[in-house]
Amino acid sequence: MGTPINGKYDVVVIGAGFSGAVIAERFASQCNKKVLVLEQRDHVGGNCFDYKNQFGVVVHKYGPHLFHTNKKEVWDYLSLFTKWHRYEHEVLASIDGQLVPLPFNLNTLYLLYPEEKAKTIERLLVQHYGYGGKVAILDLKETKEPLLKELATLVYEKFFVNYTTKQWGCSPKQISPAVTARVPVVISHDNRYFHDSYQAIPVNGYTKVFERILSHPNISVKLGFDGIGLFEFDESTSTIKISDNEFEGRLIFTGMLDQLFGYRFGELPYRSLKFDFETLAQKQFQPNTTVNYPNEHQFTRITEFKHILPVESDHTTIVREYPQDYDRLDATKNVPYYPVFNEGNQTKHQAYAALANKFKKLTYIGRLADYKYFNMDDAIANALTTFRKISNVF
Ligand code: UDP
Repeated sequence: MGTPINGKYDVVVIGAGFSGAVIAERFASQCNKKVLVLEQRDHVGGNCFDYKNQFGVVVHKYGPHLFHTNKKEVWDYLSLFTKWHRYEHEVLASIDGQLVPLPFNLNTLYLLYPEEKAKTIERLLVQHYGYGGKVAILDLKETKEPLLKELATLVYEKFFVNYTTKQWGCSPKQISPAVTARVPVVISHDNRYFHDSYQAIPVNGYTKVFERILSHPNISVKLGFDGIGLFEFDESTSTIKISDNEFEGRLIFTGMLDQLFGYRFGELPYRSLKFDFETLAQKQFQPNTTVNYPNEHQFTRITEFKHILPVESDHTTIVREYPQDYDRLDATKNVPYYPVFNEGNQTKHQAYAALANKFKKLTYIGRLADYKYFNMDDAIANALTTFRKISNVF
């Protein structure tokens, strides 16, 4: 790498997504530590990376990222680095040739049922879950109320089974219930996809936020550099080594733990995606940002970026998402997007985590390293909490 690390940097961070960038910034700004961030891609921002294309449209290279949080600390933290464009995400689902609001809510109910029956179902939903309540589809399916059971079957069949089969390669019952619970049935007329108190998009896009976070004079960023190869893990002494010398600083790892430890307990499965971008010579393609296609097509959804950060252009850019298995050896499938966190895989991850925990100077954080379905705000909150924990034992 050309530069000595020992003596020059106090902290080395592998990965420049939210987890890595935030913890790097905290060490640099709060502890005056010298931080080196190593990123294997040629850009910062991890999967939140966005850029303005030739038509002025801000495109999310790794799929749509819509920021939302209830965590004031996270909102305040990010607000140090950006101003915000107010944006509340709404999704439509294509069901039997009709575009209807998702999450399934009372508006959706009235579009899919005759009015009298919808009224009866609404009354039952409010009676059981309260107006404004939410119920996960797998829980609704357990209801003893015949009409609600009928509704649950319809929602499950038309909105969840085929989408989930495309997205995860298995049925909703074969993955953690937490996955489908992200999109509950909502007992209100609120069409928003998220209900958090803070919802907005960085006014100049996500990449600019990362550039500002990482612009602290104590931080050096090296792009196109795979940091894993630099370090050796000596289990007999629980030390991390660089070129046979003990690494004196702290290593923060935000990548995949199985890769870090040479896949010794087997590979951790992930789901990947293929993105098919298209720019069309028309002002608008669809009525809102995202339309889901549970039952048609090989792709799961189409996102039109102009709806997120509006721009005057005669062109519009859309992306179709095709889910696929992750394969680290296939360049078209080697981006890990979602951990497949069923019980067996959790156990495997725990084996890696136990090994990682033997190294006092190693900290692992983030969606990949923690093998968790983090939203952006979860990753940031976790980085801030981890920083607080480890900075005073540095
Ligand atoms: N889901 C579904 N149908 C939909 C939308 C979501 O079955 O129309 C399920 C699917 O299993 C998906 C999960 O709910 O993986 C979580 O959806 P979310 O929109 O949160 O996924 P993300 O945006 O993180 O890909």
